[in-house]
Amino acid sequence: LLGRGGMGEVYRADDLTLDQPVALKFLSGGVAADDSRLAQFHNELRTARQVSHRNVVRLYDLGEADGRRFLTMEYVDGEDLASLLRRIGRFPQERALAIARQLCAGVAAAHDRGVIHRDLKPHNVMIDGEGDVRITDFGIATAAADAGAGLAGTPQYMAPEQLTGTAASVKSDLYALGLCLFEIFTGKRAHEAKTLN
Ligand code: ADP
Ligand code: MG
Repeated sequence: LLGRGGMGEVYRADDLTLDQPVALKFLSGGVAADDSRLAQFHNELRTARQVSHRNVVRLYDLGEADGRRFLTMEYVDGEDLASLLRRIGRFPQERALAIARQLCAGVAAAHDRGVIHRDLKPHNVMIDGEGDVRITDFGIATAAADAGAGLAGTPQYMAPEQLTGTAASVKSDLYALGLCLFEIFTGKRAHEAKTLN
C-alpha cells in the first residue's frame, strides 16, 4: 500500500510478465458500481492516456480482479511534494526554480492535448529518484471523485469557480498551479483552510 486518497487506495505491484513495478489505483465502490460514472471514467481515461510527457505519470489501463476495478499506471519511486515539503520546509531557490519549470512543462503538455487536471495539488506531484517532477492523476479527477461529495478536488487548491460548482477549465488548473508554486518557493500553504466555510 502506497497511500490512500479521495478515489481509493493506491498500491505498488509487480507486473510478472514484464517484470516491472506498476502502481494500481483502486476505484471507490461508487464509481465501479455505477454504469454511467464508469462510462464517464472511461471517457476521461481515453483522453488522459494521450498525454505523454516526462513530467506526467503515464496511465496504462483499467483492470478488474475479484470484482474490484483498478487503474494501472506507471510506478514512481519517489515522494510526493506535499510530504517532501513537510519534511524539508522549503527548497533552495535554484531547486525550486527547476521544480517549478518542470511542473509548468507537464501542465502545459496536458493542456496542449485538451486534458485538464482539476485536482492539481502537491499531493499529486511526485518527485522521482532523479529529483524530477512527475504529475499524477492528470485528467481523472471528476469521474473518480466520491459520489455525493459534490465537488471533485481539494478545497485548498480549488479556483473560485470550482468552489461555486462551475466546471473546471484550463484557468482553474493555472490557479491551482499558482498555489503549488507559492508553496514550492515559500514552504507555506497559500490557504490553510481545510473546509469550504
Ligand atoms: P492523493 O493524491 O489525494 O494523495 P491518491 O489516491 O492519488 O491520493 O494517492 C495516494 C498516495 O499514493 C499519493 O499521495 C502518493 O504518495 C501515492 N501514489 C499515487 N500515485 C502513485 C504512483 N503512480 N507511483 C507511486 N506512488 C503513487
Ligand atoms: Mg493523487
